[in-house]
Amino acid sequence: MNDTMINDSTIAAIATPIGNGGVGIVKISGADALPIALSIFRKPGFSPYTEQDELYALQNVESHRLYYGYVIDPDRRWIVDEVLLAVMKAPRSYTREDVVEIHSHGGGAVMNAVLKLVLKQGARIAQPGEFTRRAFVNGRIDLAQAEAVIDIINATSRRELEAAAHLLKGDFSRQIESIRGVLVDMLTQIDAAIDFPDDIDDVLDRTRVILQLQQLVLDPIQVMIDRYDNGHVYRDGIKVVIIGRPNVGKSSLMNCLLEKNRVIVAPIPGTTRDFIDDRFSIADISVTITDTAGLHKTDDPVETIGIEKVYDCIEQSDLVLFVIDGGLPVVEEDLHIVKGIKEKPMICVLNKSDLFEEDKPVRLPEAFSAVPVTPVSALFNKGINELKTLIHSMLVKNVTDGQSEVIPNLRHKIALERSALSIRSCQEALRADMPAEIVAIDLREGMDALAEVLGINVNEDILDHVFSQFCIGK
Ligand code: GDP
Repeated sequence: MNDTMINDSTIAAIATPIGNGGVGIVKISGADALPIALSIFRKPGFSPYTEQDELYALQNVESHRLYYGYVIDPDRRWIVDEVLLAVMKAPRSYTREDVVEIHSHGGGAVMNAVLKLVLKQGARIAQPGEFTRRAFVNGRIDLAQAEAVIDIINATSRRELEAAAHLLKGDFSRQIESIRGVLVDMLTQIDAAIDFPDDIDDVLDRTRVILQLQQLVLDPIQVMIDRYDNGHVYRDGIKVVIIGRPNVGKSSLMNCLLEKNRVIVAPIPGTTRDFIDDRFSIADISVTITDTAGLHKTDDPVETIGIEKVYDCIEQSDLVLFVIDGGLPVVEEDLHIVKGIKEKPMICVLNKSDLFEEDKPVRLPEAFSAVPVTPVSALFNKGINELKTLIHSMLVKNVTDGQSEVIPNLRHKIALERSALSIRSCQEALRADMPAEIVAIDLREGMDALAEVLGINVNEDILDHVFSQFCIGK
């Protein structure tokens, strides 16, 4: 999608969720939004045979007002619904274009009928995220703020919502802008040094620039990267995978954590063949949990594929819950599994604590020495809260509670790291007395990476990727 196409057409979409509700909204944006909406709108008490009423003629409709009336089908002369029309003229609208919202009753048939009429009158159907993309292209918000809109829609906890609200308000963008401003000033100095190579030492105080790059650029960038590392669990949630041999109680544990009977529990080994995902939350953090097929030695090719998939799943998760039947001795296979998972945070869940005395816990071999162990009884729902607390403490690092702050997303973090890399290389070039031209190249790269966070001069692929995460109608 290119930006010319964006601005030329008038777009429309149903902005409210599919299904029945009190109100449903069809949103129209673009130069023809108002004439299109008015062509199917009549004032109360009209006869379906009357033409557009003077009162609702284009020149008389004011911005930021609600108009009450009916949507009609002008060809078939029937009344579709009683509606409110919200008019927001450019540039004081979400997209900075003329925007009209038709608030009808919220039913699938009525909203589809309204949308069809709007399309028939000349609008085209909006692509996912296209309204927000227009807001970005027309300069109302930057790319980080556009991403905040997705975050707000997807937020499932207060914490996520607060972080997204900061992003949308532009707090993060302003921090990026101010670091970028420092780099712009430095580049001006360096450009002067390039222009006057003979006076370079007067124009460019290398030691001072190196220090400024550290204090005014690298340190604040690092603070933001740390915020991602420590806080991204609040925005992205965490992925936990349950593994263990067959019949140790993995599915029972999953049900306990979810507080519902999601997975079939059976005394026959191998009941869970496909992976089962679901979500719950621990103190404002959304946890996606996956129950996997039991790990065991097998020659069966189908089972082997299943077991390989367990390892893929471990790879993609943030934490492994390794379930052991605490009533049985640890076997070679358990040791094999523990040794095989070195890189991931892991908790050993000693299940079936009702079958052993908790104060005399099972002695675990040396291989478990670095793994936190917690007893539970999935059958009697015991030890589950302690397990949740342990999961939380292992994955949620020192984010000060109650003090909400912007948490960059992965795209931002990658750009920030790229920027920091270029700036460090710029410091090196300065230390090594490299020519000002070389210093300028690194500095510019560092600046460009920051600009990318805000969506300045980014390529269409990045924009397509960001906006493809939106729903239609936003
Ligand atoms: P999975 O194959 O690892 O998913 O194990 P399941 O959750 O299907 O459980 C296997 C069997 O162990 C079932 O009969 C469960 O009722 C039983 N079980 C699970 N958790 C406990 C527990 O905490 N105590 C006892 N005594 N039995 C349990």
